[in-house]
Amino acid sequence: MFSSLALGLQMGLTTVLPMPAATIALGDLPQDELAAYTRVIEDRGGWWLELDDRLLVAAPVTAWPELVEGERIIDDLGGIRPDDLALQARGCPLHPSAPLPAIARAGRHALVRAPATLLPYRLPERSEWRPVVPNRSLAQDWRARGLLDRAKRAANPDVQQRVDAVGRDRWFGVLSHLATYDRSSRRSDIANARDWLLGKFASLGLQTSTYSFPMTGTVAVPQVNVIGTLAGTNLPDEWIIVGAHYDSIQTNGGSTAAAPGAEDNASGCAAVVEMAEVFTRFPPQRTMIFTCFSGEEQGLIGSTRWVEDALRPNGHLPKIQLALIMDMIGYSQDGQLDVLLETSSTLSTVFPPFQSAVADYAGELVPHTSTNPFGSDHMPFINRGVPSLLVIEYDYDLYPGYHRTNDLPGTISNALDMGGGVLKMNAAVLAEAAGFEASALFRDGFE
Ligand SMILES: [Zn+2]
Repeated sequence: MFSSLALGLQMGLTTVLPMPAATIALGDLPQDELAAYTRVIEDRGGWWLELDDRLLVAAPVTAWPELVEGERIIDDLGGIRPDDLALQARGCPLHPSAPLPAIARAGRHALVRAPATLLPYRLPERSEWRPVVPNRSLAQDWRARGLLDRAKRAANPDVQQRVDAVGRDRWFGVLSHLATYDRSSRRSDIANARDWLLGKFASLGLQTSTYSFPMTGTVAVPQVNVIGTLAGTNLPDEWIIVGAHYDSIQTNGGSTAAAPGAEDNASGCAAVVEMAEVFTRFPPQRTMIFTCFSGEEQGLIGSTRWVEDALRPNGHLPKIQLALIMDMIGYSQDGQLDVLLETSSTLSTVFPPFQSAVADYAGELVPHTSTNPFGSDHMPFINRGVPSLLVIEYDYDLYPGYHRTNDLPGTISNALDMGGGVLKMNAAVLAEAAGFEASALFRDGFE
């Protein structure tokens, strides 16, 4: 009886009792010093969470003075336990449930003070919440952590050539054209966008196809994914997927208003087209499959059905080396070009090539990573363990046109800089992922 009481107390000391907690600014603390610091927090019986540019530290009163210097404190949170906190998805601001007051942002979630066990009852219409597991990094700010400097290498002339082939004005032109269609899957005009994309892929020399999938509810025309394939020159059975959804939605204009979806997601879809523009000029060793999905706004239907009913039963999933998904890549509220890369913690080995690509070819971007993925076309791949990630601008939930009738090209502030940076980063990553023969010019540099 004594021993079980002692065991209960022991567990309670670290997992149940509230401890004084605060968020502190990480500033430019190098990654190795951060790792050492979090080890000390755990050694003293406390716990922590990395939340982008700040760290939540909870520690016993006695360890507090050693661990937390007053001048670094952003918010004093009082006594908390991990169970008092939850991660709430930061979605479209028109969503019926208002976001709870946030302690900090962590990727596309906000850390909120609400027991996770209660969230399904407080937010029954939303599934995008999750409990907090202490002692882990939820989101990282690469530049602040010094990770970009460490990832920097000498630029490769062959990769640079592909990066230089990116046309951000061409991308914005395609974006603007796609936004002239009402791409709601409830309207027939989406078929015109589909046909335009098919024609575009064909004009670039891609082998085009469509994938039709069933969708419940009212759809004006059959819903299809648009696919353009560029066969690899010598590794055709290794695939690189470049994808984005082309359907759109508006929730403020009533049933007759158009859904232009310029940022969400003509921006990503036009980027798929732009990557096809670049790589058809520089044929890759691996097969590149450029895909524009529909049915995303109704629950990732086009991408899910393609993965589950076409790729998986036909044994194609193991061929996929990388599925790069883009959704809202053109907006920045301010001059800081933040971009978020999101995958699951088990697939986080997809991050380093993006780190290097930003360091070497797209230094204007400020990249962040998150390992709590949800709600876009990367999910069907991640759910099957296929290396995949989402690229999304990090101001998306502040975007004034988000799921509105004013999601028009002119609403996307800083589009050419933001989207242009993302295109350069992705071109560099895809160049290496898809592979190339080093050009003779650069291979024999002294001749
Ligand atoms: Zn979207």
